[in-house]
Amino acid sequence: MVSRVIPVDPFDLVIFGGTGDLARRKILPGLFRRFCAGQMPEGSQIIGAARSEMTSDEYREMVSEAVAEFGSGGTCEAGTLEAFLQRVSYVTTDARGDDGWVELNGKMRDDTVRAFYFSVGPSLFGDLAERLHRFGMATPESRIVVEKPFGHDLETARALNATLAQHFHETQIYRIDHYLGKETVQNLMAVRFGNMLFEPLWNSQYVDHIQITVAETVGVGGRGTYYDNSGAMRDMVQNHLMQLLCLIAMEPPAKFDPDAVRDEKLKVIRALESVDWHHIVRGQYGGGENGPSYREDVENPKSRTESFIAMKCHISNWRWAGTPFYLRTGKRLKARASEIAVVFKEAPHSIFGADAGRHRNVLAIRLQPNEGMTLDVTIKEPGPGGMRLLDVPLDMSFAEALGPEAEEAPDAYERLIMDVIRGNQTLFMRGDEVEAAWAWTDPLIEAWQARNDVPKTYDPGSSGPEDALMLMHRDGRKWREVKP
Ligand code: NAD
Repeated sequence: MVSRVIPVDPFDLVIFGGTGDLARRKILPGLFRRFCAGQMPEGSQIIGAARSEMTSDEYREMVSEAVAEFGSGGTCEAGTLEAFLQRVSYVTTDARGDDGWVELNGKMRDDTVRAFYFSVGPSLFGDLAERLHRFGMATPESRIVVEKPFGHDLETARALNATLAQHFHETQIYRIDHYLGKETVQNLMAVRFGNMLFEPLWNSQYVDHIQITVAETVGVGGRGTYYDNSGAMRDMVQNHLMQLLCLIAMEPPAKFDPDAVRDEKLKVIRALESVDWHHIVRGQYGGGENGPSYREDVENPKSRTESFIAMKCHISNWRWAGTPFYLRTGKRLKARASEIAVVFKEAPHSIFGADAGRHRNVLAIRLQPNEGMTLDVTIKEPGPGGMRLLDVPLDMSFAEALGPEAEEAPDAYERLIMDVIRGNQTLFMRGDEVEAAWAWTDPLIEAWQARNDVPKTYDPGSSGPEDALMLMHRDGRKWREVKP
């Protein structure tokens, strides 16, 4: 495979929250890897901006520790880190005050792509946008990258969209959902729209159902207060799972351009039916020998926030009427695994008799770990003994099929930051998409709150509450096993 690094123009990237967890774990190591790959042209600079008092030298020290801890990637040569750090500086900046802004503005250059990454808590997004404008830094060419969560509900998302719109045009706003930057997620579009094989079957006539699973082994960790105010529905379903659902279910866009793709995704969200409460299972992990319970983690003994959710959804349109989409996501589960499975219908008539059993083709797209795809195909079980059938996977691990370069493919954050620099919004959420997603989730949340619904307890290390298994069993289906 030939590696192709698409050149970008020189850029000024300001990371607000440049000392925070996300910057240290993902953004800065990712930028270093892009530098190593030759994608940071001469004249580009990265400016950390946060509240902590720090000199540029101290910041460079922090960046170099972050790169050492969170991965430098395989292609970096000795000495590259020093060269990278020469591009890095720091300005102590207060998002809620006036400190640092004049100095920050002094570092900006007029003839260079300008991107501002809002890697701070959501309560500061509006302050940053307003100050960028007030201090004359919001030029027509500048871009802002806004982290999740984008609002807490429809009302707050609308308010945030309105605030950002006062200072930036929609084409300048990059709402990040890092799931969209994953190699496999983009491959999903390539598989659907680059092959003749699947698209004719991609509808309710041939697809029995679709499962989307995003399972984590970790608990809420240090994010207890935020998470308890949010829960799996707001934290995962409203954004990541719905984005995956959109890419699976959308109609082919006329071209791979930002608005064409996002228009089609929006139509899917708007076609989602409301979900009957019998089709939603909420769970909370219990505690015991292997660690604290959810309620202990969030220090709220009466919490009714879900750390797990499973649901059955329907999309009301010609393509999908009658095909259920089962979504589930949760924390402290058996394995860390994300997968989309398209389960096709059984052959209409078995010529092999009842002994051959029931068989379905499954196209499974693994997002993590070990990104790749499998297609279960029914074949004859080898050997004597008549016509017994067996489902075997045609397995394509990207790492195996494409060699070491697949492993060196940019991670989601790297890819998305470079898309910002290039000015490509295809893999970012548009304001109306985010609002439509909240418009769908809000009534579901309000309904269970009105019912005083209490989440079911599940064992850490399990597949979630028993009721989630029943959600499928009642329909004569079952979840695919969550494998590490
Ligand atoms: P963090 O608390 O570790 O860091 C926050 C940063 O904001 C720090 O650099 C801090 O100095 C800065 N800051 C706080 N108040 C400020 C102010 N008044 N003026 C200027 N700077 C200020 O948070 P984080 O985990 O890095 O998360 C940042 C954003 O990214 C949040 O919106 C979060 O929801 C989102 N996010 C984080 C992760 C993750 O893995 N950490 C994942 C997805 C989304």
